Amino acid sequence: MTRYIQKPSPNFDARTYPIDLIVLHYTGMQNAEVALARLTDPAPAAGAYPGPWQSEDAAPNAPLSRVSAHYVVDEAGRIYSLVPEEHRAWHAGVASWEGEGDVNARSIGIEIVNGGHDFGLPDFPDAQIDAVIALLRDIFARWPRLNAERVVAHSDVAPARKADPGEKFPWKRLAEAGVSIWPEHVALQLNSDDPISEVQQELAFIGYPVTQTGYMDEATKEALIAFQRRFRPSDIGGAVDDETRYLLIAVGRILR
Ligand SMILES: [Zn+2]
Repeated sequence: MTRYIQKPSPNFDARTYPIDLIVLHYTGMQNAEVALARLTDPAPAAGAYPGPWQSEDAAPNAPLSRVSAHYVVDEAGRIYSLVPEEHRAWHAGVASWEGEGDVNARSIGIEIVNGGHDFGLPDFPDAQIDAVIALLRDIFARWPRLNAERVVAHSDVAPARKADPGEKFPWKRLAEAGVSIWPEHVALQLNSDDPISEVQQELAFIGYPVTQTGYMDEATKEALIAFQRRFRPSDIGGAVDDETRYLLIAVGRILR
């Protein structure tokens, strides 16, 4: 039985949709202490959370948005419970998945303590990933709609704004533990003479906020990078290459 450390946050309200998604984040802050303080602060001010995410001339008393998550997992694998799963926590911000804009209303948010891109993208310790896997298994057991296909990155649901949990997050290891998906190469002939439309169709099918424009617009590029960050982390340049096209089809097949 997984143990949770109670660290209640007042930052939540009522859900307006049934739970059918889990969003993974990195905290992107100095350490767990600062992240827990921010995620439980009912009136956060800029001066209390100095960091690369805000300009140096921000007034110390400038109000920040109230944020939270259901869980925080620290580097040692300790799991903090901040908001009861039944309530809507405030972790996804402006986001969209499968055409639905209120991602917070339908998701459980897990913040994984990691400095992220602003702090050199540190590795995720094994103990921390073991705890994330255990937590996901617990959540699946509580909510029948949730399974390996329903776990996404913050960067998936907000590709224009977010890059977390980042290209070093071990999605394949999660998939091997049965709590995420990972595509295998599929044997097929790539024969589309309109690869951009094909890419847009597959991205939208998976859930990304992409419109079928037929050309490489900004939203498509950002979603493609989010997809690569998750499924082909060795090259996240946003190119429409054959490997990416195969992987898009492979992920689509898992979800079909
Ligand atoms: Zn995030």
